[in-house]
Amino acid sequence: MRISLCGAAGEVTGSGYLVETRTARVLVDLGMFQGQGATFEKNRDLGPVQPERLDAVVLTHAHLDHCGRLPLLARGKFRTAIHATPATVDFAELVLKDSAFLQQQDAERLTRRRQRQGRPPAEALYGPEEVDRLLPRFQALPYGETRTIADGVSARLVDSGHILGSASVELTVKEGASKRTVVFSGDLGPNGMPFLRDPQPLAHADLVFLESTYGDRDHRPLDATLDEFLAILQDAAGAREKVLIPSFAIGRTQLILYFIAQFVREGKLPVFPVVVDSPMAIEATRLYRRHQDLFDEEAKALGRRGGWEKDLPRLEMSETAEESKRLNNLRDAAVILAGSGMCDGGRIVHHLKHNLWRRNVHVVIVGYQSQGTLGARLVHGAKEVTIHGEEVVVHADIHTLGGFSAHAGRSELIDWFGHLAKDRPRAVLTHGEDGPRAALAEALRERFGVTVETPGPGAVVTLD
Ligand SMILES: [Zn+2]
Repeated sequence: MRISLCGAAGEVTGSGYLVETRTARVLVDLGMFQGQGATFEKNRDLGPVQPERLDAVVLTHAHLDHCGRLPLLARGKFRTAIHATPATVDFAELVLKDSAFLQQQDAERLTRRRQRQGRPPAEALYGPEEVDRLLPRFQALPYGETRTIADGVSARLVDSGHILGSASVELTVKEGASKRTVVFSGDLGPNGMPFLRDPQPLAHADLVFLESTYGDRDHRPLDATLDEFLAILQDAAGAREKVLIPSFAIGRTQLILYFIAQFVREGKLPVFPVVVDSPMAIEATRLYRRHQDLFDEEAKALGRRGGWEKDLPRLEMSETAEESKRLNNLRDAAVILAGSGMCDGGRIVHHLKHNLWRRNVHVVIVGYQSQGTLGARLVHGAKEVTIHGEEVVVHADIHTLGGFSAHAGRSELIDWFGHLAKDRPRAVLTHGEDGPRAALAEALRERFGVTVETPGPGAVVTLD
């Protein structure tokens, strides 16, 4: 069989694998390349993927960098099923509808600029029509069930502990007399995160595609991060200050709510207002409730006692733009969670514009900020930033907390691979920058004596 890499080779976005056997073509993920300019333009090229010739699609999880190009399949004659866990089916709908809206909005803005320059209009990558055509193709495949998805190919999904519903994929491929197992790790989570079960190891593989985002380092211990977070919230509560938290809608927002509730429950923090100012995060939080069967034991037990909401009696969901604007006048201790997670769009930008210049405000960065974003400038200590073309001085306290990652650290990646190592599978490292990837490759070779490859974009891996 041949497996073509459609992205995330030496970078962390654009995940996608086309598996071709003598009798079938199966796609695993088709994520968006996230970035500006040339990086974004790569999304328009499907490479070796011919939508009308696909027999099946498997989706590991609902993050945009894994599902964001799927709507492009729905342009032509695309009748293929997309297999994903029930939670991923729900989250993917939320993510792709939001993405289509943003794609259209971006294209309209660009078109207006181009028109002023006498140039032709910009074309959106896709819009709501493609997403509407795509959504009926999703077929829920619960964890642990084996399903034949194409001639000679069966798939099984295993919890990867990264976001609710996320999965590693085990493909069993029969060609003539040979039978091969190919495992795609998907994004692997760290151990011990609230709500999520730890990543489940697999027992056997001939070939493993392993993510390598943090292949060169372990995260700061969660306990140290939580102590820091608590201290910030205690200060804010005492001095009646506002705390702004830029946060991704799915996963990170719920995690932060969980921890604040825990502080209140343990009596470390007085009850004070928490506002989720993001329609997408509000919907994602509803979906978390719908899929609580996937929670780890701790979160299930908490659910039986009334859930974390019980400890946040002043939790507000701010759905409309008016509700969001009203928060500008809030002059009391409050946590405001809003997107986008990297401060490069969404309601958090408005909150930052109205508050960065104040002295009695905290901004808590809880996620990765990629270069060039407003979030990255704040993390690097900018004294002044430009927001919507306006200079804003930074007087607010900016805190960066490093321990909330949704990705496994280096030791956890090595441990996960260790469960497969007895059969000495070939390893192919993807979804990582070159530095972390090379570091993990060396560790796996040394520790397990396996062959490890670090292919570039467009590479084809073959397996007899
Ligand atoms: Zn992910």
